[in-house]
Amino acid sequence: MKKQYVLLLLCVWSQIALAQTIQGFTSKSTQDQLALETQFDAKLKKENLDEWMQFMAAEPHYVGTEYGKMNAEWMKEQFESWGYDVEIDEYQVLFPYPKLRLLELTAPTAFKAALSPEPIAEDKYTQQGEALLPSYNAFSTDGDVTAELVFVNYGVPKDYEELEKLGIDVKGKIVIAKYYGSWRGIKPKLAAEKGAIGCIIYSDPADDGYVQGDVYPEGAFKPETGVQRGSVMDMPLYPGDVLTPGYGATKNAKRLDRKEAPTITKIPVLPISYADAQPFLEALNGPVAPSDWRGGLPITYHIGPGPAKVHLKLEFDWQLKPAYNVIAKLKGAVYPEEWVMRGNHHDAWVHGASDPVSGMVALMEEARAVGELAKAGQKPKRTIVYCAWDAEEPGLIGSTEWVEDHQEVLKEKAVVYINTDGNGRGFLGVGGSHTLETMVKEIAGSIEDPQTGVSLVERRAAAAKVANRDTDFRLSALGSGSDYTPFIQHTGIPSLNLGFGGESSGGEYHTIFDTYSHYTRFKDPGFDYGITLAKTAGHITLRMANADILPFEMKAWYKTVSEYMDEVTETTEAMRKQAEKQQQLVAENAYVIAADPKDNLKAPEAEKDIPYLDFSPLQNALASVKTSVHDFSKTDLTSLSASKQKMVNAKLKDLEKALLSESGLPRRPWFKHQIYAPGFYTGYGVKTLPGVREAIEQKNFEEAQEQIEKLAKTLTAFKGKLDEIVKMG
Ligand SMILES: [Zn+2]
Repeated sequence: MKKQYVLLLLCVWSQIALAQTIQGFTSKSTQDQLALETQFDAKLKKENLDEWMQFMAAEPHYVGTEYGKMNAEWMKEQFESWGYDVEIDEYQVLFPYPKLRLLELTAPTAFKAALSPEPIAEDKYTQQGEALLPSYNAFSTDGDVTAELVFVNYGVPKDYEELEKLGIDVKGKIVIAKYYGSWRGIKPKLAAEKGAIGCIIYSDPADDGYVQGDVYPEGAFKPETGVQRGSVMDMPLYPGDVLTPGYGATKNAKRLDRKEAPTITKIPVLPISYADAQPFLEALNGPVAPSDWRGGLPITYHIGPGPAKVHLKLEFDWQLKPAYNVIAKLKGAVYPEEWVMRGNHHDAWVHGASDPVSGMVALMEEARAVGELAKAGQKPKRTIVYCAWDAEEPGLIGSTEWVEDHQEVLKEKAVVYINTDGNGRGFLGVGGSHTLETMVKEIAGSIEDPQTGVSLVERRAAAAKVANRDTDFRLSALGSGSDYTPFIQHTGIPSLNLGFGGESSGGEYHTIFDTYSHYTRFKDPGFDYGITLAKTAGHITLRMANADILPFEMKAWYKTVSEYMDEVTETTEAMRKQAEKQQQLVAENAYVIAADPKDNLKAPEAEKDIPYLDFSPLQNALASVKTSVHDFSKTDLTSLSASKQKMVNAKLKDLEKALLSESGLPRRPWFKHQIYAPGFYTGYGVKTLPGVREAIEQKNFEEAQEQIEKLAKTLTAFKGKLDEIVKMG
């Protein structure tokens, strides 16, 4: 070969190598890592997902069931056979079982809600009778109430504003709200704050029944007797065991008196089907509901109150039940004291083929392949910890208790937590710490979508383009709704949550219809997306485990936080303009003149002025972080010596913790993260820069100013940590 050719080849080769250097790796270690990932992919088998789902979802397995315990023990054996050190960590957690459920219409006619689902002939799992957990909302209080009924749409704050305009008060009434529009726990929480004494939640066919598509078994949507179960614990206050806030629910832990537990609802609440809901809604009179409140039932939707009168009686068996978390460790060959954590829950409301077993079996297949690679000599550099959580459904209880009980070791060792839950067909959705965005994007850009053959990034971008949305691959911010919450919100461990969806919607969520039969027909036939999830989460896990320098990247983080900052300032301005306009309209008596006199609308009072807030501490803090972010991104940390890399990684691991505040958010100290939190009135929905944003939204401007200063201090501390790392480079 001629010398020029050799040079040219070398040049081309190094260009390729350079182009392919991945976040946290050198060009040499990039090649090794990519080769390892190819071997990992080759080991994944979708038959395993199918077989394991049939086994795990064969019977109901909510917390405290024999079947749930057996699943935990069976998973332990599996992990052990793949080379993991496994323990089952047990907690004793409060779990209410429905003892008495009575819902009846007492006027103007009599009707008793059946509260029992119709089994499906073609689906044997729906025919297990008594074993199927009766439909209820966990952590509703006991109660026996009788009152007039009011329809409150989704039961979210803006619905109550609408009711106020109509002069309708829910004080002393029982409300009926539709599922959706918020996390379900917000509905009874808000109803109680407004003075209601009981709450019924039903699934309207417009949201996930026959209006959306054919109902099960013809299609995926909710049949008329289907009921969504679910927790109504006040999780935005604190998730986990209601009796042991902030510490592990171990056998001898000190427990609150149940009567004092603040996260149990204040009023009784019960979910029902649309077959049961219709007679109640039909019996309402009063104003016709606004057009966007009306659902898909063949009735005219009225708001009430009355003449429908309702009797709701609920009694629960309040018992401590054992929750079994399966914790499987594969010791790292180079940095055994650094943990890459990866989890999914294993408990379900009923069979839970989709939620959570589809995610659980993908995690197990991933763990099996990682274990096989290790057995063949390809051990991860860092320790990998696979977790199967129990008692997620009633309130993220298994994971929260474990995290609260392992605070010290987690602070010392955990570098990341990667969560999955139920999985379906469609597009990759990922949320999490924005310091991980670059790494996730690299991985998603290299994994093929099983239906179209393009990369996961390209498929998402094409959909965004068609819908006229931003095509950039961005992580969403995490609120709550699965087991990442105690890791990121309470402990400041960088976290991710991922899964596929968007092309597999249905009405089976938390019902007796979430079965293997339903899943394999409508959610992910053939488990192609189950395997793609195992690949995606597996690559993330392996990169975190093997990176020379932990793959945190600051530019994407900075960009996102600056955008949040712009949002809160713009929100304040928009609120001011809105208030000024409203004051003007009130002054002109425009609302009264414009309204239909027959509607008897209440004339609104003029809103208060929106004061000017001083955002400058925050703006200055963010500007100074920008300099550090710039310096950090210029520093090549992968070229440092091994001992220096170890020191840098130790600091990188703790970086996100600098975004916590020890005292936490106002009125909910359990939530310590200053950038992301679930909304106090949205539940699962995230509020970014939550201290500042929620104070503004609640028009508590004094608190908003305090929170601006607090967040500015947090960002300055974060900058300090970043500068320490830059100095080491
Ligand atoms: Zn789940």
